[in-house]
Amino acid sequence: MSLHIGIVGGGIGGLCTAIALRAIGLQVSLYEQSDSAGEYGAGIQLSPNATRIFKALGLLDAIETVSFKPQNAQLRSWKNARLIASVPLGQTSLDRYGSPYLHIHRSNLHDILRQRAQSAGVHFRFAHRLVDLSQQDDHVSLAFANGKLYQHELIIGCDGIKSAVRNLLFDNTHPQFSGHVAWRGLIKTNKLPDNLIAPNATVHLGPHQHFVHYYLGSGDYVNFVAVLDNQDWQQESWSIPADKKALECAFSGWNTPVQTLIKNIDVCYMWALFHHSPLKNWTDRRITLLGDACHPMLPYMAQGAAMAIEDAWVLSRLLEQKEQEPRLALAEYQKYRLARTAKVQAASEEQGNMFHLADRTSITFRNLKLGLGSRYLPDLALQSMDWIYGYDAVKGFH
Ligand SMILES: Cc1cc2nc3c(=O)[nH]c(=O)nc-3n(C[C@H](O)[C@H](O)[C@H](O)COP(=O)(O)OP(=O)(O)OC[C@H]3O[C@@H](n4cnc5c(N)ncnc54)[C@H](O)[C@@H]3O)c2cc1C
Repeated sequence: MSLHIGIVGGGIGGLCTAIALRAIGLQVSLYEQSDSAGEYGAGIQLSPNATRIFKALGLLDAIETVSFKPQNAQLRSWKNARLIASVPLGQTSLDRYGSPYLHIHRSNLHDILRQRAQSAGVHFRFAHRLVDLSQQDDHVSLAFANGKLYQHELIIGCDGIKSAVRNLLFDNTHPQFSGHVAWRGLIKTNKLPDNLIAPNATVHLGPHQHFVHYYLGSGDYVNFVAVLDNQDWQQESWSIPADKKALECAFSGWNTPVQTLIKNIDVCYMWALFHHSPLKNWTDRRITLLGDACHPMLPYMAQGAAMAIEDAWVLSRLLEQKEQEPRLALAEYQKYRLARTAKVQAASEEQGNMFHLADRTSITFRNLKLGLGSRYLPDLALQSMDWIYGYDAVKGFH
């Protein structure tokens, strides 16, 4: 195949797309605004729908080597850490979905993806911030802030929630502040009392806020994300170094594991969470979008990156099948991906509302429903995630 594709954005979505397209023999140039493709200090959960694609791309062994395998996903009460509900991951993920559930440091994942893309022959152009594009019959022209101009037969905008490609193509597509602010960071495990943190993905639920923690890598770091309702984000930036005292204050009176984790934080960042209702269209002839650029979502199902990884796989398969009609491949890619990603966007929003319930009756009902479900109907609790984790894009997509 002789197509030369331009990818704008070198996050998880852009790198996975570049690797998947090189695997089918396409020429790929990747334009990234920063000086190098890097990631900030935080963790990420990789569910089986994403890890099976890494397996198909020959990346899973390298990723597993630097990942932590959680045993369960658990919900606990803010007050005393009482268990509300528990769903097995670990071996259950392998038995049920044929692929592992993993926790990994974002920078480790990035390094693996970037190295693979480089060795596969992706042409990286760092310090290239896209500022303009225009479409002709047989190519797309790109203009960058450094004055450089390039042309490609197809363009894939993987440039994240504030996507320049999306904004240049479509009007009125700016994301909205969700009313939620996240604090995130890493804590060295050797600073914590022994056995304080179980080897699970744990979410502590309290009125209007929640606290997530899980181990990374060989268990030497605990990743945390603390989310609070906060209607008035005044900062221009979406992420800023945060004051630990404000976090201590917001979570005072919470259970011992949460308080101990917060006490041991060295550095943390505040992150305004933005969202966007599903786009009706994200493709225009020779240009399409992928990942957060087209379906940004709140992080409560831990699926944003997983959706970008699925997108990358589906798009590459369609381009391989429709070698002679790449524009048709882009249109079909959107058709296959729009309904699923919109459903996950909606589920993520609902999950956030459920996490932050604040009135006593709703909390009691939620805890009873989840607790009884996971204790007496464990298979039903697992089944409720099958539509996400069991989606096997490698076998076929629908
Ligand atoms: C608190 C939190 C926790 C999360 N946890 C999980 C989780 O556990 N599991 C999960 O699957 N997902 C999770 N997510 C979601 C996940 O991080 C995102 O969905 C994912 O990183 C999106 O990847 P992307 O490549 O589409 O976009 P991005 O990661 O945003 O990458 C976009 C890239 O494009 C570049 N770029 C932007 N504009 C331009 C331009 N004009 N020109 C050139 N380059 C440009 C940027 O520099 C960047 O490198 C979480 C998100 C948050 C906020």
